[in-house]
Amino acid sequence: MIPYGRQEINSEDINSVIGILKSDFLTQGPTVSLFEEKFAAEVGASYAVAVNSGTSALHMSCAALGLGKGGLLWTSPISFVASANCALYCGADVDFVDIDLNTYNMSVDALANKLERAEKKGRLPDIVVPVHMCGRSCDVKSIKKLADEYHFKIIEDACHAIGGEYRGKPIGNCQYSDISVFSFHPVKIITTAEGGMATTNDAEIFENMRLFRNHGITRDEKQMTKEPDGPWYYQQIGLGYNYRMTDVQAALGISQLERLKDYVKKRNDIADLYDELLDGLPVVTPSRIEDGVSSFHLYVILIKNDLGSPSRREIFDCLRENGIGVNVHYIPIYKQPYYENMGYEQDDFPISENYYSSCISLPIFPTLDENDQRYVVEMLKQVVHK
Ligand SMILES: *Cc1c(COP(=O)(O)O)cnc(C)c1O
Repeated sequence: MIPYGRQEINSEDINSVIGILKSDFLTQGPTVSLFEEKFAAEVGASYAVAVNSGTSALHMSCAALGLGKGGLLWTSPISFVASANCALYCGADVDFVDIDLNTYNMSVDALANKLERAEKKGRLPDIVVPVHMCGRSCDVKSIKKLADEYHFKIIEDACHAIGGEYRGKPIGNCQYSDISVFSFHPVKIITTAEGGMATTNDAEIFENMRLFRNHGITRDEKQMTKEPDGPWYYQQIGLGYNYRMTDVQAALGISQLERLKDYVKKRNDIADLYDELLDGLPVVTPSRIEDGVSSFHLYVILIKNDLGSPSRREIFDCLRENGIGVNVHYIPIYKQPYYENMGYEQDDFPISENYYSSCISLPIFPTLDENDQRYVVEMLKQVVHK
């Protein structure tokens, strides 16, 4: 089976990990700090906090921005469930903003309309989480304008998007947001097996996040409520979790980060070739950004559901039967049973419904063989012309 995505691990990665296993620190130690430093420099943010998953990074970010009971977070329904669950972890509520079919991202117009209505009803969001779907940045500059008007915070869910650019700058630099969040799950652009990162330019948010990932414990005297009892002393000054990344993971992350640019280049080459090979087929290929770079975590096409043409389901089944690990990203979050009785109306999200009924993710990863890629398109051609 050709998977839709997979990691690439080379001998340098393996040697870096072995080096840590032979060293004094296994869990969070100097290598995590070094990974954070390199990561912050890579994306052009002042601070980075490493954690054990992208999901933890989202939870930590919401908590660091003060989201709690009675709070409200809005995100895109076309995302992994973690983009919404982070609000529920904090005891807050979630609502969704419909997407734009051209970008697969949260629609800024839909957001503006929903904010206008929400203001009249007297319940505005505390946080909006735009998701950079497939690695293509949302229009965060426009979202920031709305944030200034309606006073909400922005967490960019950049789990797909490390290595991408927005308006000529790296995604994650937080120029238009409070925090950006990344995932290092093996299908993502770079991996630490499991792992995540949050970047920010705000020193206070940074401190809040560092406390949160380590039980709310500090060893910094300046943060303590009284003089230390002695050299052993630490204080728990908030409620946090154990969300630490290990030095083993960080070593893998540092090694992978060195190949980030190559990875994004290869993914873009694969996307370009798909665009070319799919030309003329009854499918919509991903639109391209003018002043940005997608990291192409996913290559999602939309099947045109014209009369007489095979359905998305038929195409999906046929590709799977022929050893192609196509996938569907994502089932709208409000359709999940856990979310279903929270009062969402699918009629409020017509574009997400349309997207979900026609999307297919084709295989894309740096080591995807060109012949395999041509085979994917050949099989797709056969089924749409059947
Ligand atoms: C992968 C992903 C997450 C969660 O990251 P994990 O590291 O798997 O916890 C969150 N949001 C999006 C959009 C993702 O793709």
